[in-house]
Formats: sequence, C-alpha cells, structure tokens
Amino acid sequence: MDMHTAYLSIGSNMGDREENLRSAIDLLNADEAIEVTKCANIYETEPVGYDDQPYFLNTCLELKTSLDPYSLLKVCQKIENDLHRVRIIRNGPRTIDLDILLYDDLISYDPILTIPHPRMYERAFVLYPLKDITDYSGKIPEDKSVKLVDEPYI
Ligand code: ATP
Ligand code: CA
Ligand code: CA
Repeated sequence: MDMHTAYLSIGSNMGDREENLRSAIDLLNADEAIEVTKCANIYETEPVGYDDQPYFLNTCLELKTSLDPYSLLKVCQKIENDLHRVRIIRNGPRTIDLDILLYDDLISYDPILTIPHPRMYERAFVLYPLKDITDYSGKIPEDKSVKLVDEPYI
C-alpha cells in the first residue's frame, strides 16, 4: 500500500482544550488507515482574526496514512463533528479544528482542499509547533503571544 506523510495543525479554544486535542489524536489513530507518528509541543496562542474569544491550545501532528488527501480531509471533518464543533463565526471559537498543512509534496489550489494550507506561513501558532517536528527553517512571523505550555501528548 502507498503510504503518505501528512502534517496537520490542530487547535481548540472551547471546553477542555487539552482533552479535545487528545481526543482528536485518539480518533485519528482509531482510523486503521492513519497512524499519528509525531506530536509537537503544545502552545497557548492568542486568537487571530476574531479577538473576542478564549486563547487556543495549538499543536501539529505528523501522520502516516494510506488515505488520499480528500479522504483524509473527510476524516478530519468527521472528527470535528464528533467533537461537537459548531460553526458560528468564521475564525471563531471551536472545540476542535483540524487543518491539513502538507501532504507529501502535493500542491493543490482547490478551495475545498488547498495544500499547502494557504495561511500557514503567516501563522506563528502553526509554524512554532511545525518546526518542532520538521526541518522547517523558513521565516516565522513574530507573535509574542505564542507560549510553550506543555510537552507533546504522544
Ligand atoms: P482557516 O482555514 O483560515 O484556518 P478555519 O479553519 O476556521 O479557517 P474552516 O471553517 O475549518 O476554516 O474550513 C473551511 C473550509 O476550508 C473547509 O470546508 C475545507 O473544505 C476548506 N479547506 C481548504 N483547504 C483546507 C486544508 N488544507 N485543510 C482543511 N480544510 C481546508
Ligand atoms: Ca484553521
Ligand atoms: Ca479548518
């Protein structure tokens, strides 16, 4: 079977944020076509885009998967639904958000699934944890709000 490497950004700012991140990791691993192989440090970050909401916990994951990118997106969206994410405000509070950052060296301009994630390189809350688990050596925008709070969950 063809195995692929993907990187996800996951974040939570509602309910038990740590529990939500851990549940997302467990639910990914529960899919037989996915193995979570790395977890970055956990960062607490100030919300970007819509300010009037709690701080996030953010991290990044490395996955090995036999799923194609769209099937992986479906799994991510199902996990968001299972963890009772409700979409009310764009960039607003959520129990969990799973974004696909990278998938092998794929480049996709489809709005349903854009890879690399179109806003990842401007987001310190994505690049700090991504740097923990990859050799990313590009620019990281300055963001004093990004605070290391915990060690990787796996
Ligand atoms: P942002 O994308 O700026 O982080 P968001 O995560 O709040 O914002 P969502 O409401 O979670 O946005 O997602 C909106 C749509 O983005 C989804 O329906 C999905 O089809 C699309 N999308 C495009 N590229 C990706 C990607 N790489 N990972 C996840 N979703 C993506
Ligand atoms: Ca997002
Ligand atoms: Ca998202």
